[in-house]
Amino acid sequence: MDKEWSEKNKRMQILLGKEATYREGIELLIELRKELFEQISQIVNGYPAEAYYQMPFANADGYHSKTLAYSIWHIFRIEDIVAHTLIAGDEQILVTGGYQQKIGSPVITTGNELKGQEIAEFSKQLNIKYLYEYAKEVMLSTNSILTNLEYSQMKTRFSDADRERLAASGCVSQDENAFWLIDYWCGKDVRGLIKMPFSRHWIMHVEAMRRIKNKLCKDARKGVDPVAYCGLSCDHCFLGEWCGSCRTEYNVCSYATIYEDRKCPNAVCCTEKNIDGCYECPELEDCTKGFYTPDNDGAASAKSQAMFIKKYGKKAFLELRGLLHERYDFVKTQEILGQDMHQGLKILENEHLR
Ligand code: SF4
Ligand code: SF4
Repeated sequence: MDKEWSEKNKRMQILLGKEATYREGIELLIELRKELFEQISQIVNGYPAEAYYQMPFANADGYHSKTLAYSIWHIFRIEDIVAHTLIAGDEQILVTGGYQQKIGSPVITTGNELKGQEIAEFSKQLNIKYLYEYAKEVMLSTNSILTNLEYSQMKTRFSDADRERLAASGCVSQDENAFWLIDYWCGKDVRGLIKMPFSRHWIMHVEAMRRIKNKLCKDARKGVDPVAYCGLSCDHCFLGEWCGSCRTEYNVCSYATIYEDRKCPNAVCCTEKNIDGCYECPELEDCTKGFYTPDNDGAASAKSQAMFIKKYGKKAFLELRGLLHERYDFVKTQEILGQDMHQGLKILENEHLR
């Protein structure tokens, strides 16, 4: 489990255990949920439609054997059911927001009953934009329920009537892989529910989503030119786990994601000019497009690298990038190439001749 999330989760549980620290515990829980939701937002905002129904670990044993879409649906259906039907005793967000229809889901269940290819087929049917809106509304609504819960309610337990209400709602499939959930939830008190559906369950699925998207990005980059249009190296990029290269549909480079069409202006411009990359462009040094925007602190170092490629070629450049990572400890190239493209080129050339 991610160390930071795991530690926050543990600390939150300890704080919730005592009346004196209970409020602090709830605040920490909401902070943890915010961090985890940020990961979901980045995934939803970054990838092409096909990414949400791929199962790159289909035969694995674990949460990562599912799809990105299924994971989001499953986390928030469970939370919606537990927060509203069980704890608050009111209507679920799925109903009040008319989300089943908007999302296009054929089921209202948690999805536990789905197996293998059924998960991919189910995921294909979901409208990701509305699925994300649903997830967000559930998250905010639960945060509000959590904020209003008193310490004295932590030990509240659930009755047979609650169990029957859940079963009658049809939100949990009668399949043996799903129906146990009702006993599981009703066997816990409110604090027990906070420890699982509202926190740990998120961590486990968000981590699985990270594994899925890392693999999708890695697969997308296979056989693709690792030199980015702007002159950076995708093989050495610190965003490598998030981005599948500007030469694929999995482009999550920051200068792609800030545009509505998710296309980096450098990539678009190179394609329009029918050139391999900015390193083939005569306007390179004066260009202010996309990644070369003057207020981007990586602009000059990207240009230095494009200028190096122009002089020495891509093969020499990629070899040099590998050597630089052996010789220096850095994340972004501007840390060693600085903010002057000509100086940056000189540094690269000196390293090349070393
Ligand atoms: S952010 Fe740019 S350099 Fe990094 S992997 Fe994506 S396209 Fe390649
Ligand atoms: S004008 Fe700028 S963005 Fe376009 S190809 Fe030339 S250097 Fe790249």
